[in-house]
Amino acid sequence: MFVALDENNRRITLTSHQQARQLAGGRFHCPLCQQRVFIKNGVVLPAHFAHRQRPIGEGEPESAEHLAGKSWLATWLRQHERPATLEYYDAAIRQRADILIHQQPPKVLEFQASPLSIPDLKKRTTMYHRRGWQVGWILGRRYHDSQGKRQARKFLTLENDRLTLWYLNVQIGTLSRLQLKDKGRLWTHYAHDNPPSQQWQSESVDGYRQARQIALSLQKRARPWMRLQALAYERRHNLQGAPWVVHNQPHPLRHFGVPELRLRIQWLLIFEGRSFTAAQSQRFWVSALPDVWTPLLPARTLARVLDTHWLALIKNAGLIGFDGSRYQWRQLPQWFADIDRKLANITHSSEKDCG
Ligand SMILES: [Zn+2]
Repeated sequence: MFVALDENNRRITLTSHQQARQLAGGRFHCPLCQQRVFIKNGVVLPAHFAHRQRPIGEGEPESAEHLAGKSWLATWLRQHERPATLEYYDAAIRQRADILIHQQPPKVLEFQASPLSIPDLKKRTTMYHRRGWQVGWILGRRYHDSQGKRQARKFLTLENDRLTLWYLNVQIGTLSRLQLKDKGRLWTHYAHDNPPSQQWQSESVDGYRQARQIALSLQKRARPWMRLQALAYERRHNLQGAPWVVHNQPHPLRHFGVPELRLRIQWLLIFEGRSFTAAQSQRFWVSALPDVWTPLLPARTLARVLDTHWLALIKNAGLIGFDGSRYQWRQLPQWFADIDRKLANITHSSEKDCG
């Protein structure tokens, strides 16, 4: 941590090795647990305070990444003339926020570089909200992957009605906003010395490969696929011959541990050939995608996003139509007897969508 209290309970913020050298020999204590803390002023990490023993209830010892990230954010806010306090200790809730931005309402930034359980994420967020503060979670290296990562899913929020995540890469010094859209990912990168830049990654899928993976999952007797296979048999279908349309235009959420492909096939097995209402379809996705996965999102957000995306896809493919109250099938998608016949029958349109 960068902030401790001195003998007169004054807040001392370490900002440089030089300052730390000048303060050497002083007595400092932790604002949270009151234990004595020491200045660590080595060459690898920024100068910081540390407890002698790992403090109870204050989590893991602080990582280099966490120290560097907080420091980066404080500098960034200073450069943008946003008044903010690094390591804001709040007596009312006995919490130390990584950064508090002084705006109306105040906003906490938490740089999360270590693991955090869903209940703890929810608890901390709720606590800040009750205090009247907004919270932004910014994710460290462990949560980052160019396409997405299951561990990052719980941090999804809605900003301007877009599914959004924030990442900070302390090694290259870039804060990045990721927005998930129906057809891909939009990244906006912010760095200290450059204007923001944007990068679009469209979502593409190799349907051929996905089809083979279904076969492989069944060979390995993966349980969710075995259950789906049983459901398919009841409908006199072979899961390995699932229609090509299920592979088209996947949503980028699939990289965040959302089993979209399996759910699309399950949806087809339930709804194909019979008319249905929007509410019935939505109920399917709601029951498949529990809200506990995404504590920072309004209820049913994932379900709404994937349901809308799927219905639009099969409507545009000419499979269903809406008569004002119910969806009706216009054409049934083609199931194949086995994987070989499926692979031999890749349609022009699926090839195009898979590209
Ligand atoms: Zn402490």
